[in-house]
Amino acid sequence: MIHPILKLGDARLQSPAEPVKSVSPETDRLIDDMIATMYAAPGIGLAAPQMGVPLRTFVIDLSMGRDPAALITMINPEWVEREGMQLEEEGCLSLPGFTATVPRPARAVVRGWDRRGETRTIEGTELLARALQHEMDHLDGRLFVDRLRGIKRDLILRKARKLARAGKW
Ligand SMILES: [Zn+2]
Repeated sequence: MIHPILKLGDARLQSPAEPVKSVSPETDRLIDDMIATMYAAPGIGLAAPQMGVPLRTFVIDLSMGRDPAALITMINPEWVEREGMQLEEEGCLSLPGFTATVPRPARAVVRGWDRRGETRTIEGTELLARALQHEMDHLDGRLFVDRLRGIKRDLILRKARKLARAGKW
């Protein structure tokens, strides 16, 4: 089932998510819904808090559904390694229409469970390292604007508030 994606301003996007206690039919359903919602958006990643579900789970698919092997599901991910720095333009399904240049690690490794509850380690560079950090941030209640400073951040927040007031957010 495709869910609405929460947008900046919703408090549920800014609260840290809780660990998943065990893999169950409910987590399986949640992950199916996250994948469907990510593909429908369309996007390359989605974290459970973006659907209003406060659990530490995200999905990433840089192929946007073209390559089944590219789909990553992570439950209770933890950092293993992060190194280097990259600066690229980035967006978020919870801030439609906005992008900014965000500093992210050049290489990132996370470890968590896949949807069967088996431990998986994912290593990413370039766009995948960026996506891993972006989705991990969602699990900690952080959006990409929270990684920006000064004028750029204020500008995005102000424009989003204006859109919200106009009922267009
Ligand atoms: Zn996002």
